[in-house]
Order: sequence, then C-alpha cells, then structure tokens
Amino acid sequence: MTFKAAIIGRPNVGKSTLFNRLAGRKLALVDDTPGVTRDRRVHAAKLYDLAFEVIDTAGFEAAPAATLPGRMRAQTEIAIDEADVIFFVVDAKAGLMPDDRTFADIVRRSGKPVVLVANKAEARGAQGGLLEAWELGLGEPVPVSAEHGVGMPDLRDAVVEALGEERTLGKDEEEDETLAASEVLIGEDIADPEAEAPAYDETKPLRIAVVGRPNAGKSTLINALIGEERLLTGPEAGITRDSISVDWEWRGRQMKLFDTAGMRRKSKVQEKLEKLSVADGLRAIRFAEIVIIVLDATIPFEKQDLQIADLIIREGRAPVIAFNKWDLIDNPQQLLAELREKTERLLPQVRGIQAVPVSAETGRGLDKLMDAVVRTHKVWNSRVSTGRLNRWLEGILAHHPPPAVAGRRLKVKYVTQAKTRPPGFVVSCSRPEAMPQSYVRYLVNNLREAFDMPGVPIRVALRTSD
Ligand code: GDP
Ligand code: GDP
Repeated sequence: MTFKAAIIGRPNVGKSTLFNRLAGRKLALVDDTPGVTRDRRVHAAKLYDLAFEVIDTAGFEAAPAATLPGRMRAQTEIAIDEADVIFFVVDAKAGLMPDDRTFADIVRRSGKPVVLVANKAEARGAQGGLLEAWELGLGEPVPVSAEHGVGMPDLRDAVVEALGEERTLGKDEEEDETLAASEVLIGEDIADPEAEAPAYDETKPLRIAVVGRPNAGKSTLINALIGEERLLTGPEAGITRDSISVDWEWRGRQMKLFDTAGMRRKSKVQEKLEKLSVADGLRAIRFAEIVIIVLDATIPFEKQDLQIADLIIREGRAPVIAFNKWDLIDNPQQLLAELREKTERLLPQVRGIQAVPVSAETGRGLDKLMDAVVRTHKVWNSRVSTGRLNRWLEGILAHHPPPAVAGRRLKVKYVTQAKTRPPGFVVSCSRPEAMPQSYVRYLVNNLREAFDMPGVPIRVALRTSD
C-alpha cells in the first residue's frame, strides 16, 4: 500500500522545505546519526493518513556549477524513475521560469502520475504564479506553503487523486474516476479522447456536497433530500473508520452525500491548518462532483457566497444554486429574475449556472433541484471529439483570429480536449505567453456555447507549438 514520491523542480522553489515537512526531518534531526542522513536515499513520510516514502533529492544542487545542469537532469531522472508519483514543485511567488518548463518536460515524458505543487502560495502576488502553473499542462496546481504548512490537506487529496485510492488508502478505486493530473494528454501524440471515452454512466453514484452560510438551510435541505427517499445510511463496510459519505437514492439514481458531521472528527494538526485556510468547506467540495450552494433567498448575495462559489469553481467542481426559503417570498417571479441575472453577472466563469428556487421546509422545488444537479453533472462529464473541436476552431480563426502582439500575429494551431470533469482543453499556439487573457476568455465562452456546456468551469491550457 505504500508508495514512493519524488520531489522535483528547479532550484529554490522549496523542494527541501517540502521534503522536510513531509519527512519530518527537522524534528528527527537530533536523533539522526550524523553522516547517515546524507546517504539515506529514501525517507519515511507522512501526510495525515498517507504513509509513504519520499526520495531524497536534496543535495543535487550541491554539485559544482559547471556540471550543474547535466548532473541535475540525471539525478532528476533517476529519482523520477524510482518514484510512483512526482511532486512537481513550482514557485508561485516567482512565477514560471524557463527551467520550470524544462523540468516539466522531463516529468511529463516519464508518464508518471504528477501532483503539481504551487509553493510559496502564501506570499503576496502568488495568485499570478498559481494561474501560470496551469500552463505546464500538468493539471491543477495545488497551492501550498511548505514553509508555513498551509495547504497540506489539499496536497493529501491531490496525491490520492493522482495515484488512486487503491494505491494510497487501499480502497476500491471505483467511486472516483476523476481523471488524474497525469492523465492529461499532452505531448507529441495527443490521442483523441473519444477513443477511450466511457459513455456517461448513470449507475455510478453521483457525489454531492451541500455548502452555504450558517442558517441558509443546509441541514434542513439535506434532511429533506435524504429523509424522504433514503435507502441506505451510515458508514459502509470497509470505510467505517473515516466514513464521510451517506448513500441514498433519488428517483432511482444513486447519490452519495458528503456527511458534514464526519468532518468534525479532525486531528489537532489539521484543526490548526484549517484555521489558516477554508479547508472545511474545501474537503466537502473536493469530495463532491456537484456542489449545491444553499442561499437564503430572503437575504441578498454576500461576499462569502461568492467566495464559496469561487472556491468550487477553482477546484473544478460544478456548482448548482438553491435559492432556499422560497416559501417566504411574495414576489417570486420578479425575485427569481433578479437573482438569476445577478448570479450570471457575478459568476461569469460558470455562465449558464443552474439556479433553482426551493423550500427545504416544504419540499417544493427539490425535484427540480436534483434534476439540475444531474443535468450539470452530465455537462461536467462531457467530451468533445478532436474533429469537432478543430472544425469549430477553423470557424473561430476565420471570424475572430487572435490579435497581433508586438507586430507579430499569434497563431492558434490545434485544440483538443485533454480532460473531463470539468472539461479541459489544450490549445496549441505560437507564443502562449503572449496570448492575451481576453482571447482565452473568448475561446472559453465560445466553446461553452458551441458545445452546450452551461454552468461548469471550462479550462483552457495553452501549449507551445513549433
Ligand atoms: P529547493 O532548493 O528547491 O529545495 O528550495 P528550498 O527548500 O531550499 O527553499 C528555497 C527558498 O525558498 C528558501 O529560502 C526557503 O525558505 C523558501 N521557501 C520555501 N518554502 C517557502 C514557502 O512556502 N513560502 C515562502 N515564502 N518561502 C519558501
Ligand atoms: P444551516 O445552518 O444552513 O444548516 O441551516 P438550518 O437548516 O439549520 O436552517 C436554519 C433556519 O432556517 C432554521 O430555523 C430552519 O427551520 C429555517 N429554514 C430552513 N429552510 C427553510 C425554508 O425552506 N423555509 C423557511 N421558511 N425556513 C427554512
């Protein structure tokens, strides 16, 4: 059940700091016999419930400067070879450097599962670096601060996602078939994902979390949903110890609901970390495929509601909004129009988001809400063939080609869907770094409309073509 991880990245991104945190080496230092530590290649590491081994790459940079690149590359390749999973570290504070891409290429070529770690995320200005990290095509970057120990729960979840529950926890893998970062198809021979595209599977349980501000009506909603048609509750065999989900059925469809009560059992360390982050909600969100945001329709949108929505979108999950306590509203039609308009305006990243008026208390609207959940889930799983995408691209390039930057026209060559859940596309172009964000947004909006993907985050990564 144990696995080996290698921490890879250019110098100074924080590899040793992360290594020390995982291996707890600072604490162990006093007990170590001098000289032994240096030679030991593999250290025991822990990340909450994950016990694994981390390959020591510290000291690689200690070689004389002249031989640095070659030596580093060789050592990196050896470490990758030995590893089951790669922690690819970038410095979110500094942003992407050419060396990051060089190392990323080596990692990508290895075909090993990768967790993309955006370190120094606590630093001011790290947001830009975090976004840039997407461009490496190694999947979703996990923001952490190795130095301050922030983001470790997310790192843990990302490892489980990349390697699978079987490898990391010894659990049946079936319930999560989210494409791991490593499966993002990048490189010379991008396969048509359609070839191995599984059809949308209605028999798999659909995983849902319910989030929202205190008093919005989350508990009432959950009880209304589950109480009515619950077939099965409580921990399942095998995952009794840390069960976090409740199984139920809605109109014949299997559902899994994140059990917030289970969230309260936390280790001291985790509690401490969560004060620094929004990890509580994050755990629920990461568990889920679809996240129901419960809003109290009698209280207007607040910043906190948007922050929750933002988090869901950033995590690549699809939100569905429930305007709750609709039984208290006396101008329902007008208010619904207003609320929907506002939602669209405030959440352009998920244009077309499903937003349904409900009363958790009376049960009205719950069928429509669940219909919206299922519909959004289908969209979240959607796949577009490379053929259709490139016919679409031809049309786009004919009508609205990318702008010229510094006198040279940017060229877009090819687009392919590299990922589902949520849909993710790789666009090959000349000079990705010069491509304006506005054009990328234009592509996303157009993709959404052309292939009917309302209400889910859509990702586009740019890749160099030569
Ligand atoms: P490595 O050479 O890539 O292994 O990087 P190190 O672990 O030696 O870290 C390089 C520098 O970045 C050191 O000065 C660290 O203190 C600093 N550093 C590491 N992690 C973090 C972090 O999470 N936040 C910030 N702000 N600095 C960090
Ligand atoms: P939570 O903190 O988000 O879990 O919210 P609760 O489910 O505990 O609900 C907070 C309060 O709102 C309780 O007094 C509920 O009875 C009330 N409430 C929840 N849903 C509705 C609804 O649809 N209509 C009305 N009128 N009250 C509701």
